[in-house]
Amino acid sequence: MPYIIVDPCVGVKDESCVAVCPVDCIIATEEDTMMFIHPDECIECGACLPECPVNAIFSEEEVPEDQKGWVELNADYFKMDRNAFLAKHGDAIDAAKAKNKGSALANPALYA
Ligand code: SF4
Ligand code: SF4
Repeated sequence: MPYIIVDPCVGVKDESCVAVCPVDCIIATEEDTMMFIHPDECIECGACLPECPVNAIFSEEEVPEDQKGWVELNADYFKMDRNAFLAKHGDAIDAAKAKNKGSALANPALYA
């Protein structure tokens, strides 16, 4: 089962995980406020998990119950066009961004 990025990443997106992924499956555009893991490319090595400063990465089976929706969100990012993806998941991402605004690790550039 792949690893999943959940809501604490939104508004932080420091890319610490990207640097250690051996298969470069942690992806986002500059417009995105979080990173996403491609579920078909992740080799489940676990290298990214300890790198995340906000504990936003879980193996799929360990995603907390109240964040299960982020499993589908990560997968949809890679199979939907951008407008459809944002129509389906934009509200959840925006809500997480608002929630994380006060985080010490929030990236001011993502809130400009
Ligand atoms: S578990 Fe390994 S392969 Fe999967 S996203 Fe993390 S570093 Fe990349
Ligand atoms: S290390 Fe954590 S906060 Fe940073 S981009 Fe990866 S998942 Fe997001």
